[in-house]
Amino acid sequence: MIRINYSTEPRLSSSPKFRMTRQRQVILEELKKVSCHPTADEVYDMVRPRLPRVSLGTVYRNLEMLSERGIIQKVDVAGTRRRFDGNAKDHYHVRCIRCERVEDVPIEPFAAIENALRGVSEYEIIGHQLEFIGLCPQCKRKAQGSHKQAPEIGRKES
Ligand SMILES: [Zn+2]
Ligand SMILES: [Zn+2]
Repeated sequence: MIRINYSTEPRLSSSPKFRMTRQRQVILEELKKVSCHPTADEVYDMVRPRLPRVSLGTVYRNLEMLSERGIIQKVDVAGTRRRFDGNAKDHYHVRCIRCERVEDVPIEPFAAIENALRGVSEYEIIGHQLEFIGLCPQCKRKAQGSHKQAPEIGRKES
């Protein structure tokens, strides 16, 4: 039987140096597995099978720490709870206005938009955020389905 020794972990708090602890590693691995941009509560549920004794507060703190280091990203989308993203590269999101799901969009960020603003603004522009909104495929299907339901009552065979 292999015993894993976690005794290095408590030293973390006394050291300002970031350490990739097992908790963080598990959180990062689970976050990278999904494309749904989970909230801290959802990450907590995802890691519990592997970290049965972890608390929601610890998960939250670790998520904050990982995002401060740029290892993951915080996704602050308008009007929703903070979500976390295992993809640390710049990319855009689309949010479903009905179920609030947040997903990546398959286009590259427009660097040109920042350069355009640099030409006309006195701000030092360091980045930009762009969020698309719409209906996800499931919600779109549901919306279409509910329109079709009524005429289908007298539907004939074959
Ligand atoms: Zn939806
Ligand atoms: Zn993302």
